[in-house]
Amino acid sequence: MLADGDVRLVDPATPVFSAFDLAPTRGDGAFESLLVQAGQPRKVPAHLARLRRSATALGIAGPTSAEWERLIAALLAEPVETDAVLKLVLSRGVEGEAGYTAIGTVSPLSADILRQRRSGIAVVTLSLGWPADARAAAPWLLGGIKSLSYAINLAAGRQARERGADDVIFTSAEGLLLEGPTSSVVWAVGSTLRTPPVSTGILAGTTQQALFAAAGPAGLATETSAGTVAELHAADGVWLVSSVRGAAEVVALDGRTRSPTDLTPLVQRLTGIG
Ligand code: PLP
Repeated sequence: MLADGDVRLVDPATPVFSAFDLAPTRGDGAFESLLVQAGQPRKVPAHLARLRRSATALGIAGPTSAEWERLIAALLAEPVETDAVLKLVLSRGVEGEAGYTAIGTVSPLSADILRQRRSGIAVVTLSLGWPADARAAAPWLLGGIKSLSYAINLAAGRQARERGADDVIFTSAEGLLLEGPTSSVVWAVGSTLRTPPVSTGILAGTTQQALFAAAGPAGLATETSAGTVAELHAADGVWLVSSVRGAAEVVALDGRTRSPTDLTPLVQRLTGIG
């Protein structure tokens, strides 16, 4: 997208970032990943609202929501037949210059994501090393911001795979539950769904929010509350939820197999991604 809000479509092989852009050199920007199903982008207002919050927190002017919507429409102008991921990326732009860089991409969903939705995931817990309240009074730590600086998140995923698992749940220095590197954590105690509070600096997940909004009418209560790994082991169901993957049931936690829950089909239906 150009700085005047105009959208230009380019071949995926065409370079779009300057070598001096602060996204590739510093990870200085924000992004969103949206699911596209049957050619339609899901939860657009929630993603654009969060992108706006991220841009504001980073002090990047960025496109307006109407301009992002034009970019989304241009990206989906050609029919997208399979489920796909639509990424919106906002960079502070070229170092020392005014303006920003904004791009969008569409790519197919990986087979692994479909497997994880269907068969569940093995998860390990890893400490982020800071107290759960560290980010609340430290805006420079970018709590709750979906910044482009995901190297730690990706390193955690590699660590999980080295340990024979699919994914990670981060914990705080005191052992409180936070989130996955690319997902929110939800667990069930009886018919109550729980998730950790955003005051811990985790991202406000749009999928968790959609799930909790739909839970009441489906007979499930919801609570935002601190939790521990021991509580996850004792829970009746545990899921990692995110826009692209939907709800993936945690079938093994730190090497201990969990009994499968019959709540998973309902939780997946309530996320709207089955
Ligand atoms: N937490 C983190 C760190 C994430 O990166 C994501 C999604 O990418 C989520 C939570 C889940 O957010 P959403 O449900 O809006 O995709």
